[in-house]
Amino acid sequence: MKAAAFDYHRPASVSEAVSYLDQYGGTARVLAGGQSLVPMLNMRLWRPAALIDINAIEELGQVRLDGDSTVLGALVRYAQIERGPVVAERLPLLAYIVRHIGDRQVRNRGTIGGSLVQGDPTGEMPLACLVLDAVVHVTGPAGTREIPLADLYEGSYATALDLEELLTEIIFPRSPQYFAFAECCRRHNDFAVVSAVATGDRGPDGRWCDVRLALGGVADTPVRAERAAELLSGTELSDADIRDAAEAAMQVVDPPSDVRASAEYRRHLVPVYVEKVLTGLRAAATDEREQR
Ligand SMILES: Cc1cc2nc3c(=O)[nH]c(=O)nc-3n(C[C@H](O)[C@H](O)[C@H](O)COP(=O)(O)OP(=O)(O)OC[C@H]3O[C@@H](n4cnc5c(N)ncnc54)[C@H](O)[C@@H]3O)c2cc1C
Repeated sequence: MKAAAFDYHRPASVSEAVSYLDQYGGTARVLAGGQSLVPMLNMRLWRPAALIDINAIEELGQVRLDGDSTVLGALVRYAQIERGPVVAERLPLLAYIVRHIGDRQVRNRGTIGGSLVQGDPTGEMPLACLVLDAVVHVTGPAGTREIPLADLYEGSYATALDLEELLTEIIFPRSPQYFAFAECCRRHNDFAVVSAVATGDRGPDGRWCDVRLALGGVADTPVRAERAAELLSGTELSDADIRDAAEAAMQVVDPPSDVRASAEYRRHLVPVYVEKVLTGLRAAATDEREQR
């Protein structure tokens, strides 16, 4: 099938894009990398009155530093995240996790902003941004506002953005020193059945602080396992600590059954993947110490 007819606009600035979105009163859609939008149009699941193509807005494609924070424009592509030196140094989790998304063609076009607004509950980018405490900036006819990632999702594929709003940038505070990520996929680089990510810092005495744990594919949005992470604060991430955290992580799990897996199978996977990433986190710090 081919898409239904639509108007097409290619603004050169954020204000021009927002003015088009306002003009169409919620019936237009933003076109970024098109990797999710175009298939939806071709299947006629969406029939927007217009596409507002943001690919000519140069400022949205920039990576910049703001003190300890790293700011990625909404149009920064997966390929830039994968290969850029600033992201590699300041946000190594993003540079690592992006390699698990789709294939080379998808990563050449897909954007971080598009991925966040698409809001796939198994998406790697929403999961990474959640665990890194990212904040998004959105601009609409009423002005600009900030939304912490933790408040961005209202459900599966549903964000807190109004249809006249444009996501413009994603702000990352200093990221913890260590991370580990793992996901269960039916095929290499397919959408995840269940994914888990852990980050944290380790003090000179071997005790961990600022441990964070997030899960994908286990609810209608990516979730932080706060209680499980709290249990690990001040510990050395012993096997027993990790087992306790894996059990506590089940508190935030309410998985769906879909074409990829049953809820029961996803529940079975959660403690397995939590233990995997926490063991990986511990190993990341130990390996680094041994290399010194
Ligand atoms: C073969 C294939 C494999 C894939 N595999 C994976 C995978 O393993 N993991 C994964 O996470 N994803 C995967 N994807 C999806 C991919 O990550 C998409 O690129 C991403 O979901 C959307 O990014 P985009 O820039 O292409 O956005 P688009 O497709 O252009 O837009 C997606 C949605 O976001 C809206 N939008 C885009 N940018 C903005 C903005 N700045 N402000 C407001 N609204 C905006 C659009 O209107 C649309 O509703 C895959 C896609 C394909 C085709």
